[in-house]
Amino acid sequence: SVPLSFFGGIGGASKSGILVKGGNYLESLADTSLVVFDKTGTLTKGVFNVTAVHPDSISEAQLIELAALAESYSDHPISRSLKEAYASEIDTSRLGEVEELSGRGLRAEVDGRSVCVGNDKLMEEIGVKWHPCHRIGTTVHVAVDGTYAGHIVISDEVKPDAKEAIRALKQQGVRKTVMLTGDAKAVGEGVAQELGLDQVYTELLPADKVERVEELLRNKSEKETLVFVGDGINDAPVLSRADIGIAMGAMGSDAAIEAADIVLMDDRPSKIAVAIQIAKKTRRIVR
Ligand code: ADP
Ligand code: MG
Repeated sequence: SVPLSFFGGIGGASKSGILVKGGNYLESLADTSLVVFDKTGTLTKGVFNVTAVHPDSISEAQLIELAALAESYSDHPISRSLKEAYASEIDTSRLGEVEELSGRGLRAEVDGRSVCVGNDKLMEEIGVKWHPCHRIGTTVHVAVDGTYAGHIVISDEVKPDAKEAIRALKQQGVRKTVMLTGDAKAVGEGVAQELGLDQVYTELLPADKVERVEELLRNKSEKETLVFVGDGINDAPVLSRADIGIAMGAMGSDAAIEAADIVLMDDRPSKIAVAIQIAKKTRRIVR
């Protein structure tokens, strides 16, 4: 059973925009020693800008249009950014069946042709040779009926409070900070270095993220709490697997809010250290 005073802690947290779904989570949060983050939308804004367009045998405008059309129904941050870059009304009558391929991209029928939009892994899977990209950023390849059509390079920015958030966690006694991402090695390692994270795993599929978290859970003591923070796009299973799952509530998906134990209303990673501090203070009062 959870002492009544933990409910007071929940009230205090909610005033800071931190929604805690139960007193037991606050109690276990006081022992946080590992914090594992998703990248896109969690540590970074999840708002990508197009930095380069490299079409192959079609025009730049056609390449952007194909990508935006194929992504019509997706609510992935990459999809939102491509639709913004297209900047025209999307004629969804041109769109047929769509298959989301989490951690890789998607396949969609556009004007009766099969369009694949996604990363290196996806091109490998469908057996399409892509052109290597030398720009720093996330490369989005496009293939039409099994033929390479070019790529779009997009880039995201870290959230303004992300670096401070990591520093504040260390101050709260967190022993290790880790980032898990499906994005490319160069992008993930760049962000990890910029923020001062202890460890980073890149090019992960959603199932690989669950595996990494399970490995981290096996290698910690029972007293230590492992927190996972995500936006829920592809990472709802990881949110439920961690000792405590924290979701970004504003930009995050409904699935994330459902799967999480704690929801941050303003999506600011610096609120995690605030939550731990409230948890510790509440425990001091309880004991
Ligand atoms: P993260 O781990 O950074 O949150 P995801 O697991 O959502 O990222 O996606 C991993 C990678 O898969 C992205 O970096 C991108 O290369 C590719 N990807 C995922 N969804 C899409 C999409 N809708 N369109 C294009 N590429 C995508
Ligand atoms: Mg994600």
